[in-house]
Amino acid sequence: MNKKTVLKNVFFDGAKRDILIAGNLFEKVRTPLEPVDYEGAEIVDCSHFAIMPAFYNGHTHAAMSLLRGFADDMELYKWLSEYIWPTEAKLTPEDIAVGSRLAILEMIKSGTVFFADMYWHREQTMRVVEEMGIRAAIGVTFAESLMSPEAWAANVDFLKNHTGETERVQLVVMPHAIYTVGEEKTAELIELAHSENYKIHTHLSETTVEVKNCEVQYKCTPVEFWKRLGGLNSNFSAAHCTHFTASDRKIFAEAGATAILNPCSNMKLNSGIPQIAEMLKDGLKIGLGTDGASSNNNLDMQEEMKTVALLAKYLGTAETLPAHEALDMATCNVANFFGLKAGRIAECYLADCLLIDLNNERMVPCYNVYSNWVYSANSSVIDSVMCNGKFVMRGRHIDGEEEILRNARECAARLALK
Ligand SMILES: [Zn+2]
Repeated sequence: MNKKTVLKNVFFDGAKRDILIAGNLFEKVRTPLEPVDYEGAEIVDCSHFAIMPAFYNGHTHAAMSLLRGFADDMELYKWLSEYIWPTEAKLTPEDIAVGSRLAILEMIKSGTVFFADMYWHREQTMRVVEEMGIRAAIGVTFAESLMSPEAWAANVDFLKNHTGETERVQLVVMPHAIYTVGEEKTAELIELAHSENYKIHTHLSETTVEVKNCEVQYKCTPVEFWKRLGGLNSNFSAAHCTHFTASDRKIFAEAGATAILNPCSNMKLNSGIPQIAEMLKDGLKIGLGTDGASSNNNLDMQEEMKTVALLAKYLGTAETLPAHEALDMATCNVANFFGLKAGRIAECYLADCLLIDLNNERMVPCYNVYSNWVYSANSSVIDSVMCNGKFVMRGRHIDGEEEILRNARECAARLALK
């Protein structure tokens, strides 16, 4: 029989309610429960909690948490070529597991139950996702200029065999960027994604240098490049989208593609600011991601959500992007792209959620719980996190936390010495 949980007296939609979770789904959310619903259920006292959808991080590089603070205060290309890529080349598969554990610990503590990951040694990250009980879209990452033909072929086989896909782990075709994967190989990956029914995710229009080089090499913008190759559709999402032209926005919206914005990383690397207000006017689908912890420098989706809301208002008007729409960008918009019926507290949706402590000073007073959550709170207000109907953090406790931190410190000390 499915495990049943009742969240008793939880604040949702303006009232205290009892919410029934059966197996991995919300079964009764708005309808009053009947005596039979409580039978055999774990009853969780939520009388000082509000329920919120959990976060879905649309773009990150989880294991890069090991390189948090390793190199700061410089622009993207210098940061990548002189510091990040040479150090990443030294990471062992075990280092990736250690870094992924650190990242997922931080994600759970800040309310994230899903991440789309672009990195190397993906098997390690997949294993850790399974262990720690959350979800992920794991990128099979392609970068012509950074990998051997054999490694490329192994990636293609990995995808053709649908290796390691599970209930909580999906694979995604991830060409790194236009400047690391050429036209012919990009076309090959589009064909592979279409034939094997995979989503595509890539870095796109992140910097003015990328856009200028694309214009020199291909005589078009990065968005036009993807359109020309037939890769732009509702199965395509791109991180950053910082330097879209008006025409790019129109093309992207018409294709039904999803822009995953990473404003904190963009500002820190001085890459630019995505034209959020214009994107909203043009009807783009928009989700959020943190990017890696070495350019953010954390994986906190609440911060990203607040930042995008503030930037949208700065670029548009005070009415642009109200709190609940910013919340959608960090939750259901990302889940929708990755084909998950999740990111809302609603019947038949996946039972992923946060219990928010209404006794935390940042939640008092509480005229509007969504306003508090987007504009006032930080992750300290999250008491518990549920993924797929199971608690992955309860009372801010996560099993194995001390060991995860100890291993990450030891690994970072080794990297610094190399
Ligand atoms: Zn990235």
